[in-house]
This record gives sequence, structure tokens and C-alpha cells, in this order.
Amino acid sequence: MSTFNKEILRTVRQARGKSQSQLAADARVSQAAVSKLEAGLITDPSDEVVDKLAAAVDFPKSIFFESDRSFGLPISLHGNAMYRRKASTGNRALEKLEADLNIRLMHIRRLLAAADIEAQLLLPALDPDEYDGDIELIAEMVRRTWGLPNGPLHNLTDHIERAGIVVIECDMSSIGVDGLTIRTLGAPPCIFIDSNAPGDRQRFTLAHELGHLVMHSVPSSTMEEEANQFASALLMPRRDIRPYLLDRITIQKLAALKPIWRVSMASLLMRCQSIGLVQPSQAQYLWRQMSAMGYRRAEPDSIAVAREPTKVLKEIVNLHLQELGYTAGELAKSLHMHPEELRLLYGVEDQEKPVRRLRSVS
Ligand SMILES: [Zn+2]
Repeated sequence: MSTFNKEILRTVRQARGKSQSQLAADARVSQAAVSKLEAGLITDPSDEVVDKLAAAVDFPKSIFFESDRSFGLPISLHGNAMYRRKASTGNRALEKLEADLNIRLMHIRRLLAAADIEAQLLLPALDPDEYDGDIELIAEMVRRTWGLPNGPLHNLTDHIERAGIVVIECDMSSIGVDGLTIRTLGAPPCIFIDSNAPGDRQRFTLAHELGHLVMHSVPSSTMEEEANQFASALLMPRRDIRPYLLDRITIQKLAALKPIWRVSMASLLMRCQSIGLVQPSQAQYLWRQMSAMGYRRAEPDSIAVAREPTKVLKEIVNLHLQELGYTAGELAKSLHMHPEELRLLYGVEDQEKPVRRLRSVS
């Protein structure tokens, strides 16, 4: 017999950005009831209360009876520096993000119950301490492990997915988070990235989060700096990019290199600095110029880098619709969400019959 899951009530409430009193008002139940349900003091709410709560949070009521274990609470996550800064303010947007992530993790666990992800590339574990803090070398070892050619790295997302990591695009703009990585038992490593960031930023974030997965099995005080160094070295290996940076570094030069390396002008300038290929006074001048031109907020559209597509999650969703014969409604039901939300999150259109592809007989 399934029991009402108090953790899930809190998670879905926070995912909708509601306080306990707002939920109580929207559901037309007493705030005491919501509070006691979440505290576990009431464990067996009436059908009427469950129906009202489900309607108020816009989830099917089945979600309240999902078991704790498959829901995977609590999550342990680390974000980037910006995330930690925002975390200290402890606002509702942060609660909402954590709740959203938990719900997405539940989807991933459910979806993966029917599909194994077979990693085609090894995800190495390389402890910076064992390499004397040589992050450049660690990045190079990842490139070698994955058999990447020298020069610009054009399909980072594809490589990360082939290493068995799930990349999930999420709207994280409200809280200013670029990305974060979650490792939980019973699920592959998951990198969540902001769906609004331009391609160069998406790629740097992915490389940064990959750095955490490769280097940081336990948190450390230097991990953010190391992850940034890793991202920079992975996307712009010193030996490969050096010949491009030998002339005088100017704004025009940075703008010309951006589409080639598919990294931001700012990342290129930082790289020039870390390799020592720009005089400090010239670097300072360039940063001031970039600020004056508004490039520190947004680099020019004319040299925008396209986002790299993520594929794995879409393939797993399609597997359910095509090979496993789920209708969109059935898939939504199994993920405890309404079809409209399935469409928004995974681009699945609600339709009566599953799409069946013809499969060749070999
Ligand atoms: Zn980080």
C-alpha cells in the first residue's frame, strides 16, 4: 500500500514557488494541514485534501505516493561560485531550483529504468593532488583518453554524453546559475545547464562541470578555481592555441578567434593571461574596452556561438514513445506530470497514438 510522501509535497510546493500559506490558500485547506503534512504529523490525508493539493500544484496526485527511494531526496549538489553566493541569501528561487532538480532526477531515474546508457568513452578520475595541481595535464589526459584531435573542440556536449553523463537543460536564469553537477546513487552523473546561456557559455559551463566530475570526488576549497582552469585548458589547450595568440592581442583579434575556438572573447583573454601571452597593461586595457563596449554583459550577436544540442534525454524519451509504445499521456502519467508539462520539458506532443517508426528487418 502506498503512503503519502511528505518530502514530495514539499518538493512540488517549492517547484511551484509557493510558501506553505500560499499553497494552503490555493488548495483551500488550512495552513495547519499543509504544515502538519510536510512535518509528517498527518500521514494519511483524505482523498479530498489530496485532490485539492494536487490541483493547486498542478501535478497528478499520483506524485504524492511516489516512494522516497526512487525520488532520491535529498540531493547533494554543488554549483558554481555564483550559485554559492546566491545560496547564502536562501531565497525562494533557490528552493525552487532544488525542487526542480529533484523532479528532473526523478524523471531520469524513471526513464532509465527502461533504457541503459552505455558509455562509449571512459570518464577518468584524476585527483589534482596526484598531479601536483597540474590542471593543464589533467585536461590533456581527458583529451587523450577521449581520442580528441588537437585544436578547437567542436562537439563537447556529444563527448560528454558519450561518456555516460546525462546533460539536462533547465531554466536557471532566475537564480543566475550556469550549471551544476549532481551525482546520486542509482543514476548516472547529471550535469544541469542553463537553457538560456549562449553557446560559448554553455560549452565553458559543461567543461567546468566535467572538470568537477573528473577531479573532485570530494569537495575542496580550490575546486571552483580548478574547474575553471580545467575548462580553459580543455577548450584551449596551451600548445594548440598558442600559435593563434602570438601577435598583439586586440579586441578584433579576440572577436576573430571566438568563432574558431567557440569560446567567449572573455575566455580567450583570460587564456592569454594565464599563458602569459599578453602584457598585464594591455590585458587591463582590453578588459576596460570590453566593459565600455558592453561585451562583459553580452558579446556581439554577429559572432554568437550556437548552442550544442543535447541528445541523450531526448533519445530516451523517444525510446519510450517509439520502441516501447507509450502514448504521450502514458509517459506523462508514469512521470507523474500532466501532458502539458511533458511537452514543455521534453517537447513531447500529446497525441492519441504512439508514433511508430518502421524498422528494417535484417
Ligand atoms: Zn563549479
